[in-house]
Amino acid sequence: MAEILQWRPMPQTKSTAAIIVHGGAGPVHEEHVEISLAGCREAALAAWQVLKNGGAALDAVVAAVTSLEDNPAFNAGTGATLNAEGKVQLDASIMDGEGLKAGAVAAVERVRNPIQLARKVLEDGRHVLLVATGAERFARAQGVAECDPAELITDRQRSRWAKEHGTVGCVALDASGRLAAGTSTGGLLGALPGRVGDSPQIGSGTYANDVGGVSCTGTGEAIIRAVMAKTAVDLITAGADAATAAVKALELFERQTASEAGLIAIDRQGRVGFARNTSHMPVAWVSGGQDVQAEV
Ligand code: ASP
Repeated sequence: MAEILQWRPMPQTKSTAAIIVHGGAGPVHEEHVEISLAGCREAALAAWQVLKNGGAALDAVVAAVTSLEDNPAFNAGTGATLNAEGKVQLDASIMDGEGLKAGAVAAVERVRNPIQLARKVLEDGRHVLLVATGAERFARAQGVAECDPAELITDRQRSRWAKEHGTVGCVALDASGRLAAGTSTGGLLGALPGRVGDSPQIGSGTYANDVGGVSCTGTGEAIIRAVMAKTAVDLITAGADAATAAVKALELFERQTASEAGLIAIDRQGRVGFARNTSHMPVAWVSGGQDVQAEV
Protein backbone atom coordinates (compact mmCIF):
# COMPACT_ATOMS: atom_id res chain seq x y z
CA MET A 1 0.00 0.00 0.00
CA ALA A 2 1.28 3.44 -0.84
CA GLU A 3 2.25 5.84 1.84
CA ILE A 4 -0.48 8.24 2.84
CA LEU A 5 0.37 11.69 1.62
CA GLN A 6 0.44 14.22 4.39
CA TRP A 7 -1.29 17.49 4.00
CA ARG A 8 1.08 20.30 4.90
CA PRO A 9 -0.38 23.71 5.53
CA MET A 10 1.02 26.24 3.11
CA PRO A 11 3.49 28.68 4.66
CA GLN A 12 1.83 31.86 5.82
CA THR A 13 2.78 34.62 3.43
CA LYS A 14 2.04 38.28 3.65
CA SER A 15 -0.89 38.84 1.36
CA THR A 16 -1.37 41.79 -0.92
CA ALA A 17 -4.91 42.89 -1.70
CA ALA A 18 -5.99 42.11 -5.25
CA ILE A 19 -9.10 42.17 -7.39
CA ILE A 20 -10.14 40.75 -10.76
CA VAL A 21 -13.47 40.95 -12.58
CA HIS A 22 -14.78 39.41 -15.80
CA GLY A 23 -17.57 40.37 -18.14
CA GLY A 24 -18.26 36.95 -19.64
CA ALA A 25 -16.58 34.57 -22.07
CA GLY A 26 -17.71 34.83 -25.67
CA PRO A 27 -17.40 36.98 -28.77
CA VAL A 28 -17.29 40.75 -28.33
CA HIS A 29 -17.89 42.73 -31.49
CA GLU A 30 -15.35 45.46 -32.20
CA GLU A 31 -17.84 48.24 -31.55
CA HIS A 32 -18.54 46.86 -28.06
CA VAL A 33 -14.95 46.35 -26.94
CA GLU A 34 -14.56 49.77 -25.34
CA ILE A 35 -17.87 49.66 -23.49
CA SER A 36 -17.09 46.18 -22.11
CA LEU A 37 -13.63 47.21 -20.96
CA ALA A 38 -14.92 50.44 -19.41
CA GLY A 39 -17.59 48.50 -17.49
CA CYS A 40 -15.03 46.00 -16.17
CA ARG A 41 -12.61 48.77 -15.21
CA GLU A 42 -15.34 50.66 -13.38
CA ALA A 43 -16.36 47.52 -11.45
CA ALA A 44 -12.75 46.64 -10.57
CA LEU A 45 -12.19 50.17 -9.28
CA ALA A 46 -15.40 50.06 -7.20
CA ALA A 47 -14.09 46.90 -5.56
CA TRP A 48 -10.57 48.29 -5.23
CA GLN A 49 -11.97 51.29 -3.36
CA VAL A 50 -13.37 48.87 -0.77
CA LEU A 51 -10.10 46.96 -0.46
CA LYS A 52 -7.97 50.10 -0.33
CA ASN A 53 -9.91 51.31 2.67
CA GLY A 54 -9.26 48.03 4.47
CA GLY A 55 -12.66 46.55 3.56
CA ALA A 56 -13.46 42.85 3.32
CA ALA A 57 -13.06 40.75 0.17
CA LEU A 58 -16.75 39.84 0.38
CA ASP A 59 -17.77 43.51 0.31
CA ALA A 60 -15.43 44.12 -2.62
CA VAL A 61 -17.03 41.29 -4.60
CA VAL A 62 -20.52 42.62 -3.91
CA ALA A 63 -19.42 46.13 -4.98
CA ALA A 64 -17.92 44.92 -8.27
CA VAL A 65 -20.74 42.55 -9.20
CA THR A 66 -23.41 45.14 -8.28
CA SER A 67 -21.71 47.61 -10.61
CA LEU A 68 -21.72 45.04 -13.43
CA GLU A 69 -25.34 44.00 -12.72
CA ASP A 70 -26.42 47.64 -12.96
CA ASN A 71 -24.57 48.07 -16.25
CA PRO A 72 -26.87 47.05 -19.14
CA ALA A 73 -23.82 46.12 -21.22
CA PHE A 74 -23.60 42.82 -19.33
CA ASN A 75 -25.79 39.76 -19.04
CA ALA A 76 -26.59 40.15 -15.35
CA GLY A 77 -29.18 42.18 -13.45
CA THR A 78 -30.45 45.02 -15.64
CA GLY A 79 -29.98 44.11 -19.28
CA ALA A 80 -29.83 40.35 -18.72
CA THR A 81 -30.65 37.99 -21.54
CA LEU A 82 -34.17 36.69 -22.23
CA ASN A 83 -35.11 33.02 -21.95
CA ALA A 84 -37.30 31.07 -24.40
CA GLU A 85 -40.41 32.71 -22.93
CA GLY A 86 -38.97 36.21 -23.28
CA LYS A 87 -38.42 36.48 -19.52
CA VAL A 88 -35.38 37.44 -17.49
CA GLN A 89 -34.38 34.82 -14.90
CA LEU A 90 -31.32 35.68 -12.85
CA ASP A 91 -28.77 33.47 -11.07
CA ALA A 92 -25.97 34.52 -8.71
CA SER A 93 -23.66 33.11 -6.08
CA ILE A 94 -21.08 34.36 -3.63
CA MET A 95 -18.55 32.56 -1.47
CA ASP A 96 -16.42 33.71 1.43
CA GLY A 97 -13.18 31.75 1.51
CA GLU A 98 -13.05 32.16 5.25
CA GLY A 99 -15.11 29.32 6.69
CA LEU A 100 -16.45 28.26 3.27
CA LYS A 101 -19.57 30.34 3.74
CA ALA A 102 -21.70 30.53 0.61
CA GLY A 103 -25.01 31.87 -0.66
CA ALA A 104 -26.75 31.61 -4.02
CA VAL A 105 -30.03 32.31 -5.77
CA ALA A 106 -31.40 31.02 -9.06
CA ALA A 107 -34.28 31.80 -11.43
CA VAL A 108 -35.26 35.04 -9.68
CA GLU A 109 -37.30 37.48 -11.74
CA ARG A 110 -37.99 40.38 -9.39
CA VAL A 111 -34.58 41.26 -7.93
CA ARG A 112 -32.38 43.94 -9.45
CA ASN A 113 -29.16 42.82 -7.75
CA PRO A 114 -29.15 39.05 -7.25
CA ILE A 115 -25.57 39.18 -5.87
CA GLN A 116 -26.90 41.15 -2.90
CA LEU A 117 -29.61 38.57 -2.35
CA ALA A 118 -27.02 35.76 -2.58
CA ARG A 119 -25.07 37.54 0.12
CA LYS A 120 -28.16 37.61 2.33
CA VAL A 121 -28.48 33.84 1.87
CA LEU A 122 -24.83 33.51 2.92
CA GLU A 123 -25.33 35.72 5.98
CA ASP A 124 -28.55 33.96 6.98
CA GLY A 125 -26.59 30.72 6.94
CA ARG A 126 -29.45 28.20 6.98
CA HIS A 127 -29.21 27.33 3.29
CA VAL A 128 -26.81 27.76 0.38
CA LEU A 129 -29.16 28.00 -2.63
CA LEU A 130 -32.68 29.41 -2.86
CA VAL A 131 -34.62 29.46 -6.13
CA ALA A 132 -37.48 31.25 -7.87
CA THR A 133 -40.42 32.43 -5.75
CA GLY A 134 -38.86 31.00 -2.58
CA ALA A 135 -35.82 33.20 -3.14
CA GLU A 136 -38.07 36.19 -3.86
CA ARG A 137 -40.02 35.61 -0.66
CA PHE A 138 -36.71 35.47 1.20
CA ALA A 139 -35.71 38.75 -0.48
CA ARG A 140 -38.89 40.39 0.82
CA ALA A 141 -38.31 39.08 4.33
CA GLN A 142 -34.73 40.41 4.22
CA GLY A 143 -35.76 43.83 2.96
CA VAL A 144 -34.01 43.41 -0.39
CA ALA A 145 -35.73 45.74 -2.84
CA GLU A 146 -37.87 43.98 -5.44
CA CYS A 147 -38.40 45.37 -8.89
CA ASP A 148 -40.87 44.96 -11.69
CA PRO A 149 -39.39 42.27 -14.03
CA ALA A 150 -40.00 44.68 -16.95
CA GLU A 151 -37.45 47.09 -15.45
CA LEU A 152 -34.69 44.54 -16.05
CA ILE A 153 -35.40 44.31 -19.76
CA THR A 154 -33.58 46.71 -22.07
CA ASP A 155 -34.12 47.27 -25.79
CA ARG A 156 -30.61 46.12 -26.50
CA GLN A 157 -31.51 42.58 -25.48
CA ARG A 158 -33.63 42.25 -28.55
CA SER A 159 -30.76 43.25 -30.76
CA ARG A 160 -27.68 41.33 -31.85
CA TRP A 161 -25.90 42.50 -28.70
CA ALA A 162 -27.94 39.98 -26.72
CA LYS A 163 -25.91 37.16 -28.18
CA GLU A 164 -22.69 38.89 -27.26
CA HIS A 165 -22.82 40.36 -23.82
CA GLY A 166 -21.69 38.27 -20.95
CA THR A 167 -22.07 36.95 -17.47
CA VAL A 168 -20.10 38.77 -14.79
CA GLY A 169 -17.86 37.68 -11.95
CA CYS A 170 -15.31 38.87 -9.44
CA VAL A 171 -12.62 37.46 -7.15
CA ALA A 172 -11.04 39.50 -4.36
CA LEU A 173 -8.31 39.15 -1.77
CA ASP A 174 -8.37 41.66 1.06
CA ALA A 175 -5.51 43.03 3.15
CA SER A 176 -6.28 40.50 5.91
CA GLY A 177 -5.77 37.63 3.49
CA ARG A 178 -9.43 36.69 3.06
CA LEU A 179 -10.57 35.57 -0.38
CA ALA A 180 -14.06 35.83 -1.85
CA ALA A 181 -15.64 35.12 -5.23
CA GLY A 182 -18.98 35.86 -6.87
CA THR A 183 -20.75 35.34 -10.18
CA SER A 184 -24.01 36.71 -11.62
CA THR A 185 -25.84 35.98 -14.86
CA GLY A 186 -29.04 36.05 -16.83
CA GLY A 187 -28.12 32.59 -18.17
CA LEU A 188 -28.21 31.55 -21.79
CA LEU A 189 -30.23 33.33 -24.45
CA GLY A 190 -33.40 31.39 -25.24
CA ALA A 191 -32.90 28.80 -22.47
CA LEU A 192 -35.87 26.80 -21.18
CA PRO A 193 -37.63 28.52 -18.29
CA GLY A 194 -36.29 27.09 -15.05
CA ARG A 195 -32.90 26.26 -16.54
CA VAL A 196 -30.10 26.84 -14.02
CA GLY A 197 -26.49 27.07 -15.17
CA ASP A 198 -23.18 26.92 -13.34
CA SER A 199 -23.15 30.51 -12.05
CA PRO A 200 -25.21 29.95 -8.88
CA GLN A 201 -23.69 26.53 -8.21
CA ILE A 202 -20.92 26.57 -5.63
CA GLY A 203 -17.98 24.58 -6.95
CA SER A 204 -19.01 24.94 -10.59
CA GLY A 205 -19.38 28.68 -11.28
CA THR A 206 -17.92 30.06 -8.06
CA TYR A 207 -15.55 28.83 -5.37
CA ALA A 208 -13.31 30.33 -2.70
CA ASN A 209 -11.42 28.94 0.25
CA ASP A 210 -8.34 30.05 2.19
CA VAL A 211 -5.91 29.47 -0.72
CA GLY A 212 -7.78 30.65 -3.81
CA GLY A 213 -10.93 32.05 -5.36
CA VAL A 214 -12.43 31.50 -8.82
CA SER A 215 -15.37 32.71 -10.93
CA CYS A 216 -16.25 30.95 -14.20
CA THR A 217 -18.18 31.85 -17.33
CA GLY A 218 -19.15 29.97 -20.48
CA THR A 219 -21.39 27.04 -21.33
CA GLY A 220 -22.92 26.31 -17.95
CA GLU A 221 -23.92 22.71 -18.65
CA ALA A 222 -20.28 21.83 -19.41
CA ILE A 223 -18.86 23.86 -16.50
CA ILE A 224 -21.18 22.01 -14.10
CA ARG A 225 -19.99 18.62 -15.37
CA ALA A 226 -16.36 19.66 -14.98
CA VAL A 227 -16.95 21.37 -11.58
CA MET A 228 -14.53 23.93 -12.96
CA ALA A 229 -14.24 26.52 -10.15
CA LYS A 230 -13.40 23.93 -7.51
CA THR A 231 -11.05 22.17 -9.91
CA ALA A 232 -9.07 25.40 -10.35
CA VAL A 233 -8.96 26.08 -6.60
CA ASP A 234 -7.78 22.50 -6.02
CA LEU A 235 -4.89 23.18 -8.40
CA ILE A 236 -3.97 26.25 -6.34
CA THR A 237 -4.16 24.13 -3.18
CA ALA A 238 -1.77 21.68 -4.85
CA GLY A 239 0.75 24.49 -5.32
CA ALA A 240 -0.08 26.20 -8.61
CA ASP A 241 -0.24 29.99 -8.80
CA ALA A 242 -3.55 31.53 -9.93
CA ALA A 243 -2.50 31.98 -13.56
CA THR A 244 -1.25 28.39 -13.94
CA ALA A 245 -4.31 27.00 -12.17
CA ALA A 246 -6.65 28.93 -14.49
CA VAL A 247 -4.92 27.61 -17.60
CA LYS A 248 -4.72 24.02 -16.33
CA ALA A 249 -8.34 23.96 -15.20
CA LEU A 250 -9.42 25.25 -18.61
CA GLU A 251 -7.27 22.69 -20.44
CA LEU A 252 -8.82 19.93 -18.38
CA PHE A 253 -12.30 21.37 -19.00
CA GLU A 254 -11.72 21.55 -22.75
CA ARG A 255 -10.37 18.00 -22.90
CA GLN A 256 -13.30 16.65 -20.88
CA THR A 257 -16.15 18.59 -22.44
CA ALA A 258 -14.97 20.11 -25.77
CA SER A 259 -16.85 23.25 -24.74
CA GLU A 260 -16.10 26.94 -24.34
CA ALA A 261 -15.46 28.79 -21.11
CA GLY A 262 -13.29 31.23 -19.24
CA LEU A 263 -12.34 31.80 -15.62
CA ILE A 264 -10.64 34.30 -13.34
CA ALA A 265 -8.66 33.44 -10.21
CA ILE A 266 -6.67 34.90 -7.32
CA ASP A 267 -4.40 32.94 -5.00
CA ARG A 268 -3.66 33.96 -1.46
CA GLN A 269 -0.40 35.62 -2.41
CA GLY A 270 -2.51 38.10 -4.41
CA ARG A 271 -1.47 36.79 -7.82
CA VAL A 272 -4.24 37.06 -10.40
CA GLY A 273 -4.88 34.69 -13.29
CA PHE A 274 -7.37 34.20 -16.06
CA ALA A 275 -7.85 31.95 -19.06
CA ARG A 276 -10.40 31.52 -21.83
CA ASN A 277 -10.84 29.38 -24.92
CA THR A 278 -13.35 31.82 -26.42
CA SER A 279 -12.39 34.68 -28.73
CA HIS A 280 -12.92 37.22 -25.93
CA MET A 281 -13.50 37.65 -22.22
CA PRO A 282 -13.29 41.22 -20.93
CA VAL A 283 -11.34 41.35 -17.67
CA ALA A 284 -9.99 44.07 -15.41
CA TRP A 285 -7.73 43.63 -12.42
CA VAL A 286 -5.67 45.43 -9.81
CA SER A 287 -2.75 43.61 -8.23
CA GLY A 288 0.87 44.00 -7.20
CA GLY A 289 0.42 47.69 -6.45
CA GLN A 290 -0.19 48.53 -10.10
CA ASP A 291 -2.95 50.63 -11.63
CA VAL A 292 -6.05 48.93 -12.98
CA GLN A 293 -5.33 46.88 -16.09
CA ALA A 294 -7.85 45.54 -18.57
CA GLU A 295 -8.06 43.43 -21.67
CA VAL A 296 -10.76 41.83 -23.71
N1 ASP B 1 -22.19 30.33 -17.48
C1 ASP B 1 -23.41 31.05 -17.72
C2 ASP B 1 -24.57 30.08 -17.75
O1 ASP B 1 -24.41 29.01 -18.31
C3 ASP B 1 -23.41 31.79 -19.04
C4 ASP B 1 -22.16 32.59 -19.33
O2 ASP B 1 -21.21 32.54 -18.60
O3 ASP B 1 -22.15 33.30 -20.34
O4 ASP B 1 -25.61 30.41 -17.27
